[in-house]
Amino acid sequence: MAASSLPTATPLPPAAVSEDAPQPIPSPEPVVAAHLDQPATAEPPIHKSLLGQSLEDLTAWMVAQGQPAYRGKQLHQWLYEQGARSLQDITVFPKAWRQQVEGVAVGRSEIYHRTEASDGTVKYLLKLADGQIIEAVGMPSAKRLTVCVSSQVGCPMACDFCATGKGGFLRNLATHEIVDQVLTVQEDFGQRVSNIVFMGMGEPLLNTDNVVVAIRCLNQDVGISQRSMTLSTVGIPGRIRKLADEQLQVTLAVSLHASNQAQRQDLIPSAKAYPLTELLGECRDYVKLTGRRVTFEYILLAGLNDQPQNAAELAQHLRGFQSHVNLIPYNPISEVDYQRPSEASIREFVAQLESRHIAVSVRYSRGLEENAACGQLRASKVA
Ligand code: SAH
Repeated sequence: MAASSLPTATPLPPAAVSEDAPQPIPSPEPVVAAHLDQPATAEPPIHKSLLGQSLEDLTAWMVAQGQPAYRGKQLHQWLYEQGARSLQDITVFPKAWRQQVEGVAVGRSEIYHRTEASDGTVKYLLKLADGQIIEAVGMPSAKRLTVCVSSQVGCPMACDFCATGKGGFLRNLATHEIVDQVLTVQEDFGQRVSNIVFMGMGEPLLNTDNVVVAIRCLNQDVGISQRSMTLSTVGIPGRIRKLADEQLQVTLAVSLHASNQAQRQDLIPSAKAYPLTELLGECRDYVKLTGRRVTFEYILLAGLNDQPQNAAELAQHLRGFQSHVNLIPYNPISEVDYQRPSEASIREFVAQLESRHIAVSVRYSRGLEENAACGQLRASKVA
C-alpha cells in the first residue's frame, strides 16, 4: 500500500510520551526456559480489549450494550482510524452511556521511551497495562513505513547472539498489544504503515493464536496487506505446518543461522530438539501448502559460519527449494563476543551462494548508532 496521510476526520492525538525519565518498572521474576521441550505459554493478564476486535465483534458488543448496531461501525472507526485511547475519547457516543461503561479497556499502550536515529528509524519502548515494557521500531524509507513488532515480553528461546534472549521470558502478548504497536508507530509518524515484520522481541510461533488474530486484524481492520507482512521464527516443531493451515498470505522467514545441525544447536539451544532436516522438511511443506516461498535468515558471525564451506553446505540444503536467503551481518551485543564480518567477507559469502544459484540479499540493520540489536534498547533502559 502506498504511504498516504491518515483519513481522519479530526487530527490524530499526539501519542502520549511519559514525562519522567524512564525508571525501571518492578516486574515479576522472569520465567526462563533453558531449553524448550516444553513451549513457554505464560498468558497475558488481559486477554480481550476492544482493540483487536473485528467490525462484527464490535457491533455485537455494542448491541449487547443496548446501543444501535451502527454504533459498532463508529467504534471501529474511532479505534482504528481516530486513535481513540478510551471510550471517553469517542465523543459521538452519548456521554451518559460512556460514563456508564467506564472501565472497558481500549487496550492502548503508553510510549515510555522514544529514540530516533539519524536515518529516521525510531525505536520505542512501550509500557503495557500491567507495566511491562516491550520494543517496537518504525523504519521509514522512500515509499514505506515498516514496523518491527514484538510478539512476547522477552523471549524464552535464549539464542546465544540475541539481546532479547539474554533477558529471559515473561509472557505472551495479547492480540491488542500487537495491534497497538502498529497504531502507535502510525500515529507517531503521522503516516500509514505499509509493512510489518514480526522481528521484535519474542518467538511468534510460541504465541501463534494471538499472532494470527493480530495479522487478520492488521489486515482487515487497519488495512495493511498480508503480503506486506513477514513473520520471522526460529522454528518450533509442528508450528510451521500449523501456520500453513491458516492459509495466510504473509511471508514466512525462518532463522536458520547455521549450515549444519551441530553449528545450529551451538547457537540456538532449542535446535537440539528440532533437527535441521525436520525444520527444512516443515518449510518444504509450508511452500507446498501455501505456494509462498520461504525466506531463510542467516546471521553472519565472523570466522564461525561465514566460511566458504558454510556457503556450500547452505546451498546444498536449499537446492531446488523455493526460497530466498537473507544474510544479516551480526549486530554486536555486549553479553557475547561474536564478531561482525568485514564487508569483503560478506560480499564473498554472497558470491559463493550466487555461484550456486541461490537467491540472496543482505539486510543491513537500521538505526545502528544506538542499541541496534533487538532487545538492546530495552536492556539498556529497564534494569
Ligand atoms: N524469534 C524470531 C524473531 C526474532 S528477531 C526469530 O528467531 O526469527 C528477528 C531476527 O533477528 C532473527 O533472525 C534473529 O535471529 C535476529 N537477531 C537476533 N539478534 C541478532 C543480532 N545480535 N544480530 C543480528 N541479528 C539478530
